Amino acid sequence: MSFNDDARLDGSRVKRRGRGRTVGVAGGGIGIVGLIAVFLISQATGVNVSGLLGGGTGSGAAQPLDGGDLSSECTTGAQANESIDCRMVGAATSLNTYWGTEAPALGVTDYRTPDFFLFSGSTDTGCGGATSATGPFYCPPDEALFVDTDFFEQLRSQFGASGGPLAQMYVVGHEWGHHIQQLTGAFDRADRSDTGPGSDTIRLEVQADCYAGAWVGSASTIQDADGVTFLEPVTEQQVADALDAAAAVGDDRIQSASGGQVDPDTWTHGSAEQRQKWFETGRSQGATACDTFSVPTDRL
Ligand SMILES: [Zn+2]
Repeated sequence: MSFNDDARLDGSRVKRRGRGRTVGVAGGGIGIVGLIAVFLISQATGVNVSGLLGGGTGSGAAQPLDGGDLSSECTTGAQANESIDCRMVGAATSLNTYWGTEAPALGVTDYRTPDFFLFSGSTDTGCGGATSATGPFYCPPDEALFVDTDFFEQLRSQFGASGGPLAQMYVVGHEWGHHIQQLTGAFDRADRSDTGPGSDTIRLEVQADCYAGAWVGSASTIQDADGVTFLEPVTEQQVADALDAAAAVGDDRIQSASGGQVDPDTWTHGSAEQRQKWFETGRSQGATACDTFSVPTDRL
């Protein structure tokens, strides 16, 4: 998925985030993966398991919390094709434009741009402390995405996804989807302590996958203020990469890859097949087709 070199990016809401006091793990955040069992527990229960994860223990601020935004560093599509950080800015600019237009169709009358923090190592959030082990996530009280771009390497090495640019942007699109759920109220309505087949937690996650797909399906028509489209048309190979990433972060794949038993009752994000299916639903039918809360469990 390539950006048009001349597309103008807006990096004002994408900021670098330094390390703060780390107080517990981001149990209130909602991520792309169930990752490992302890995080799965923390996500489901909100129990503080930072000790288990080897999270920080209140060390002093090594970097300032606010590392500044990327508005001067990433201004064009050409830069988004070159660096991961600018690709995040490019994805954010395109997503923000898309949802600014699309959100009203989901009943959102006051669309707000989320903040978007790039961090490495660990950082504080309104959902608790986050480490790289958390994976990318959205924190509702902050209305912000938190992405450690090292995760994309992990996606390749640990989860076996091909991890191309569209796979990276699928991850951003998924987390942005959680922001949309914050705005539609789906997030507040859901019972997020529930896991397993048909649970609200899985319905939220596959809906975020569907929203990511909806954006990808329209991405090559979304334009900057000068009428330059941000992204070139998506190729089938790139879609395959994104689907591959969606499958790689399916709970079944993660559980078997981490040597554990595949136990659907503990799932929080859905199977590889479910995640791919909903991504494709969004891509082919748009965001209004993403009503994952109204389908029976066996059609999820
Ligand atoms: Zn998620």
